[in-house]
This record gives sequence, structure tokens and C-alpha cells, in this order.
Amino acid sequence: MAETPLVEAQGLHTWFELRQWGFLRVGAVRAVDDVSFTLARGEAVAFVGESGCGKSTLVRTLLGLHRPTLGEVRFEGVSLAGLKSAALKAYRARVGYVQQDPFGALPPFLDVRRILAEPLKVHGVSDRAERERRIRAALAEVRLTPVEEYLGKFPHMLSGGQQQRVVIARALILEPALVIADEPVSMLDASVRVEILELLQGIQRRRGLTLAFVTHDLTTVRHYAERIFVLYAGKVVESAPVNDLLDAPQHPYTRALLAALSDPDAANATRLREVPGGEPPSLIDPPAGCRFHPRCPSAMPGLCDREVPPDFTPRPGHRAACWLHDPGAEDPNHSIIIDGRQASGRGGPVHDVSQ
Ligand code: SF4
Repeated sequence: MAETPLVEAQGLHTWFELRQWGFLRVGAVRAVDDVSFTLARGEAVAFVGESGCGKSTLVRTLLGLHRPTLGEVRFEGVSLAGLKSAALKAYRARVGYVQQDPFGALPPFLDVRRILAEPLKVHGVSDRAERERRIRAALAEVRLTPVEEYLGKFPHMLSGGQQQRVVIARALILEPALVIADEPVSMLDASVRVEILELLQGIQRRRGLTLAFVTHDLTTVRHYAERIFVLYAGKVVESAPVNDLLDAPQHPYTRALLAALSDPDAANATRLREVPGGEPPSLIDPPAGCRFHPRCPSAMPGLCDREVPPDFTPRPGHRAACWLHDPGAEDPNHSIIIDGRQASGRGGPVHDVSQ
């Protein structure tokens, strides 16, 4: 029997209602919009996308901080939707969180010992000696040694890299099964980024953790993720094993991201200047059909701007939500008919999506 995935997200929608004006309720921000995936035990994955693609909302939904509007998250086979406060607290102990800004994530008025003791106290580790043992072990694991040098320090007395090691130690101290690292090195000096990524990777492998990185940076994911999910405007548009996705991207958006990275101007790495239209769409009123169609160089008028592409499997283990990978597209006798007329860019027998 197949092992239950550690995490299953099924048809996840996290929308935020906009303000009410008199009797009018004006729309919603569709930050996460029909996202499904599974995370296996012990794997390292990356969620990649530009700012505003829904990464942070997805993370907060996985952490149980946002309740999905539709769909559900299951952890070890149990839906988060049914958890009462005690069970939700137990769930949060199973999920560690490494924030983007380590200085902002650490309470400035607590020293390192008290920062690490706090989650242990909240989760019922009442024995002081046991807390001290676990605090020291966590600091040693993130290589803040000799441990005695760091226990009494306050966040402002630490470098950015040391602060992030404390954040990682805090995320690990309750021995989670899943760690979510949200842009864990984007605010650190370049000199310590590799150290922190290698530290996380070493811990993940040693402990057999599931590690989910959230990042806008495709340059480093090859080294620490096994699988990538590419997000665009609240949806996963492509997912695949890391080398497969980076060496043979199947979605025009992923190709555009990778093309931007090869630009000698590093500032282009997180923007898509090469793609017409230049900006990600509004999540309040996203484009109909494929949300990437206003920027897509391969868009097929009459199809991409009207019909949401389902997930296709252009290669084994590789999924892309793009009409270019409709298996019928290779067939010269294949066609898609919408409202009784043939969509552009296709010919052949009819695949009627107008019903
Ligand atoms: Fe481009 Fe159409 Fe594919 Fe969307 S579905 S990425 S618009 S070709």
C-alpha cells in the first residue's frame, strides 16, 4: 500500500474578501486559487515565483494561519479543517517555520536561551533540565558553538547569519516533521547564504525532514531542492523534479523566468522584462483563461484567453498547466471548439469545451 504523503493540498483556494461598500461587497483577492500538490516524507521541495504570486499566502495556509476558502490541507492524512485548538496547537509543533527576516522574527528583549525555551514551554516541556538539554542540542545542530557563548546573547548582538541560525534552531526545537523556509537567505549577506542553505540541507537529510523552500530565486534551487513547483498568479503552473524542470522547462512562464536569469543584469532575475506586458496580473481581477496569456509569447487567441488550461503531463513526473501540452495538439486532425467555433492555433478533430 502506498505511504500516505506527509502533506496533501487538494483544490486549495485562499481568498480574501475585499471591503464592503454599503450593500456592495467588492470582489476578493484570489491569493491561492485551486492549488493541489503532495509532499512526501523526507523530500526537499521549492515553491518558486515572483512577488505577489501567492507564495506567502500558501505558506500561511499550510501553517494553519489562514483557513482555506475552499479545498483542504491534510497532514499525515488528517484534514486541518477539523482540528480544534488543542489539535491545531499539536499540528503547529509538527511544522517548523523559518522566516525571511531573522531580525524581525526574533523578540529583541529575549536572549537566545529564552527565545528557544519559549516554544518548549508553550508545548508542555516543563522540566527545566530537559529544556536546557534541548536548547543546547539545537544550538549545536545549527553550529552556534561553543554554545555558552550564545545562550545569553540578545538578537542585536548577533550577525544576520547567526540570527538566522537561531531562527532555524527555534524551528527545529520541537522536532517537526515539516520545515517551511520562507526566502531563508534573501536578507542575508551573499557570503553566508550558501552556509545557511547547506546547513538546512544537512539537517533535512540527517533528520529525514520534509523541507519546503519558498523562493523567487531559481539560481540556487538545483542544489537543495528535489522538486520544484512554479507559481504564477495564485496557481501552480508547472511542477517537476528539479533537473527536469530546469533543463527542460515546459511552461512558457518558467522558460521566461530562466531566460531572465541568463540576463547579465542580475536585477532582471526576479522580473520578466523579456515578456510583453511586464507585470504579474492583479489577483483581484485576474485574466480569464490562462492567467499568463497577456504576457505569453505563445498564447493562442480564442483558447488561452478563454479556457483555463488543466494540468498536462508532457514528460513522466512533469506537469504543466499549458494548452501547448494538450496531447491532441500534436495531432494534425485535432481541434478545440469553443462556442461552436475553432480556437486559433489548432486544426483537426473536435475537442469541444463549450459544454
Ligand atoms: Fe501561453 Fe497559452 Fe500556455 Fe498559457 S496556456 S502559457 S497563454 S500557451
